Amino acid sequence: MKKNRLDKFYNKTIDQRIEALMNGDYLETQSIDSFKQAFVLPEEISNHMIENVVGTYQLPLGLALHFLIDGEDYLIPMATEEPSVIAAASFAAKTIRLAGGFTTDISNRTMIGQIALKNIKNKDDAIQAISEAEAEIISIANNAHPSIVKRGGGARSINVRWLEADAEHGTPAFLVIHLHVETLEAMGANMINTMAEAVKPFLEEMTEANAVMGILSNYATECLATARCKIPATMLERRGMSGTDVRDKIIEANQFAIADPYRATTNNKGIMNGISALVLATGNDTRAIEAGTHAYAARSGQYRSLTKWSQAEDGDLIGELTIPLPIGTVGGSINIHPGAKFTHKLLGSPDAKQLESIIVSVGLAQNFAATRALVTDGIQKGHMALQAKSLAINAGATGDDIQKVARLLRKEKHMNLQTAKTILQTLR
Ligand code: NDP
Repeated sequence: MKKNRLDKFYNKTIDQRIEALMNGDYLETQSIDSFKQAFVLPEEISNHMIENVVGTYQLPLGLALHFLIDGEDYLIPMATEEPSVIAAASFAAKTIRLAGGFTTDISNRTMIGQIALKNIKNKDDAIQAISEAEAEIISIANNAHPSIVKRGGGARSINVRWLEADAEHGTPAFLVIHLHVETLEAMGANMINTMAEAVKPFLEEMTEANAVMGILSNYATECLATARCKIPATMLERRGMSGTDVRDKIIEANQFAIADPYRATTNNKGIMNGISALVLATGNDTRAIEAGTHAYAARSGQYRSLTKWSQAEDGDLIGELTIPLPIGTVGGSINIHPGAKFTHKLLGSPDAKQLESIIVSVGLAQNFAATRALVTDGIQKGHMALQAKSLAINAGATGDDIQKVARLLRKEKHMNLQTAKTILQTLR
């Protein structure tokens, strides 16, 4: 447990927040300035991260508070351009912490590489030959990336899938070989691509078929993370609504998101508000996580809510979220980007499984906050307060004027940029 709970963090200036982190033993930084410098991405690094670099593009980094995950306290770093995401996550985490916090389950961190073959002469013979050559295939894969084997990971097994030709979509039949690889602390894209490409010619020769490609699959169904929370109904009471009423409405709202893809998409976008912000802040690949998560939401054949809210036998509200989370604590930009190095430290240098626990819990918190707001106050109330600040800044307000304009703006019937400009002119 940390010494200082960072009370009224949102009311502080940026410098006061950094000071509170330093005083609360959250940071090892020497000074406010050195903290601020920790995020600066030098040109010599950025220029090697991607191509044709002309500058860096900044986003605010904020901290979501109150997270208690598997008995550990966490400050959650989030890089996002969207107002209200961090406030909502902190608000949800505060309630859930009082209810005992999040508990998580993390599956094996097994990633999947695919080798797709087409023009198979005899399906059954090819499947049998490949299955019988499993040990050889694994050995070819591991020899292509021996360092991961030395570390204790590597290719473990294969799985063979047959995809029928589909006249409606104009696709031929494919024989797909999945290579299951334990990538340890890495997301593993590069090692899996290397392994899949190494195995490809062997499979082509053996089956006399044509390989279409050998590549990592971002649909990481063997790398699942689950977060759960259990909240007494009494803790859900809100503005004249009883706790049981709020609980039932949250369950009903969730049922709607399970049944309807139009609602599910927005519901899951809200979950990704937190997940993508944290994934980005830790130097991981947001597109990889987003693609896999949305595919997982459609695993039944219909796109559905990723979360499930239900009533426990004792009347408590139970929340659960499961998603594929092939993140890493090494590789990619993680060991290069100074901001990513900092956020890993701030999280207590978690290993990949712990980082998955943290990320999936943030997703569940985000969904709890949004769903509770939707069935009680409505989503706009909190959102518009923060939107007013953005409008004030857009209108040209600076310093204390930002809060003044935002406060007056919220009293207006039409909260838009023009109104913000008019208010600012009046103030000046
Ligand atoms: P890297 O190849 O950068 O790093 C992984 C390497 O780190 C391993 O191969 C290993 O190399 C080394 N390593 C050091 N310590 C460990 C450890 N404890 N456990 C495991 N490996 C360790 O990254 P990834 O292969 O993870 O790929 C991630 C990057 O790939 C991301 O930036 C992503 O954006 C990008 N990418 C994503 C794709 C996709 O999602 N479809 C496709 C292509 C790229 P060694 O053992 O040799 O030291």
